[in-house]
Amino acid sequence: MTERQRTLTPPVHLTDPYGGGLDATPAADCDVCTALVKQRDDARGRQDYAGAAIASTEIARHPHKQRGRTT
Ligand SMILES: [Zn+2]
Repeated sequence: MTERQRTLTPPVHLTDPYGGGLDATPAADCDVCTALVKQRDDARGRQDYAGAAIASTEIARHPHKQRGRTT
């Protein structure tokens, strides 16, 4: 085995690395999304962009069940 040269990965830009969008649109009637939006805003407020991205990803992936409708 030859020693493999390690290369630096290119700089990561804050453009949608999660596929769901960092500005995912929450469903208006979704309590979970409402809470996640607050989390995202709080995270951004403390410059916790990773936390904001996670919250946004959860919004993007959320199935948005309607309030008051349970299966
Ligand atoms: Zn939702």
